[in-house]
Amino acid sequence: MKKFDIIIVGAGAAGSIAAYFGAKKGYCVCLLDGKTREKIGDKICGDGIGKQIFDTLNIPHPTKGEYLNIIEGIKIYPPDTGYTTTIKDTNKSGYIIDRLAFGQRLVNDAIKAGASLYDQTHAISLIKAKDQIIGVFIKSKTIEEQELYGNLIIDASGFNTRLRKQVDTPHIAKKIAHNDYIICYREILRFKNPVALDNKYVSLYLDKIRAPGGFIWYFPRNEYEVNLGIGIANKHKSKLKEYYQKYVHNPLIGDEPHTKISSGSGLVSVCKPLWNGVGNGIIFAGDAAMQVNPMTGGGLVPSMQAGFYAIQAYEVAERLDKYDARSLWGYNILYQKSMGAEFAALDLFRLALQGLPNDILDFIIKKRLITGEEISKMTSFGETKLQFSSIISKMIRGISRPKILLDLIYLMGQMKKIKSHYMNYPQSPQNLAQWIDLTQKIYEKIHKRFRLIADPIHLQGKKKK
Ligand SMILES: Cc1cc2nc3c(=O)[nH]c(=O)nc-3n(C[C@H](O)[C@H](O)[C@H](O)COP(=O)(O)OP(=O)(O)OC[C@H]3O[C@@H](n4cnc5c(N)ncnc54)[C@H](O)[C@@H]3O)c2cc1C
Repeated sequence: MKKFDIIIVGAGAAGSIAAYFGAKKGYCVCLLDGKTREKIGDKICGDGIGKQIFDTLNIPHPTKGEYLNIIEGIKIYPPDTGYTTTIKDTNKSGYIIDRLAFGQRLVNDAIKAGASLYDQTHAISLIKAKDQIIGVFIKSKTIEEQELYGNLIIDASGFNTRLRKQVDTPHIAKKIAHNDYIICYREILRFKNPVALDNKYVSLYLDKIRAPGGFIWYFPRNEYEVNLGIGIANKHKSKLKEYYQKYVHNPLIGDEPHTKISSGSGLVSVCKPLWNGVGNGIIFAGDAAMQVNPMTGGGLVPSMQAGFYAIQAYEVAERLDKYDARSLWGYNILYQKSMGAEFAALDLFRLALQGLPNDILDFIIKKRLITGEEISKMTSFGETKLQFSSIISKMIRGISRPKILLDLIYLMGQMKKIKSHYMNYPQSPQNLAQWIDLTQKIYEKIHKRFRLIADPIHLQGKKKK
């Protein structure tokens, strides 16, 4: 019988980082992935990652080859693309990575630190002893065992995790609501001539008609290559390729000579993270816990951060020599008070923007009712307040449609409120239900104000009255 301190399912960003830090601390760590070792990291992605996480985790930045381009900021375009707002600060700079090379670097770092990788090994189901998870049943082409045991299982197996569905812990959703994720398609194109758009910025296009429920992205890999994609609400999935061709490829590429290097589709959650990411003997990290920036679909940074926090929580549980949800609860506190708070606020922002028709989105950007600098502060420093002086000039600029500014001020107020509410994330599992009720009340206000139609399970498990 093979027994480990920590078993990590999935060697993506979350799993490999958890394995690296776990092994570095001297724990006996096993990292499983269904893929062959050399394919780990090969994933359909926009390939953009912020720089800051490497300093936060104190790990080396990607080297040349692992990254393809250095990005200085983000340009956000409303439906009328004659206007834009630019987000530029050191926190918003980043890399366009070679996804496979970067994924390989992460998994190799974990192995070098001492983690045992079992590739071509699928976790099939959880092994339980009463209500404690103590291991995983596996199917492997590389090892003979069919069962592995550990004090802690970290489920880092991505959006389509099968393990989360097997856990009966309150407030860990088994199913993700349709409104809480988007379906994406992307192509990597190589041009014959250098591309026209500024290749030091990534571009995001918001448009209710062309990308309903999501966005379009244009991420330059270098002056000859681009990662181009679209994410739209799941209910439009049958039209995904049609939307890509009509609203992304044709207007942005046209008849510019190029070849297609790669294409594919995938799902991205665009909502707040799971209410609760721990059960008895298990932690959910990365896409398996819906830890993705809901405005941009960026999940690499939050997944890496989650992998790091999971090991911090394990250290505490190990000292207590208890691996139940209560002993691992520190993971929730660490995550929800940092990225959880930011993502919940951005989730409100996303929901409100989705409720606005295209002409209002145009108006907001054209009249600078929200600037790139404000969005940047909102996402980097947690500031969700418009400056009084700027409100006056915004009132003048937005005088023809005063309700829009009032709606935005209301939205900022609710974003601030939800952030401070997340800073009061419960210290133990008992108070979670009450905390969730209060969170949902803030969501309901936004739904009402922006006349959004909630899908029946949109509020992660809230019962329909
Ligand atoms: C089209 C698209 C564009 C995106 N663009 C960006 C972007 O530009 N920037 C960004 O930051 N994020 C982006 N994301 C999101 C980002 O890719 C994810 O959030 C991130 O990769 C999540 O990392 P993870 O480690 O949680 O999961 P994953 O990277 O999905 O890794 C999960 C791993 O688990 C393995 N696995 C799955 N099931 C099992 C099992 N049962 N047993 C063993 N192994 C298993 C898989 O083989 C995989 O290696 C994008 C996503 C998509 C779909």
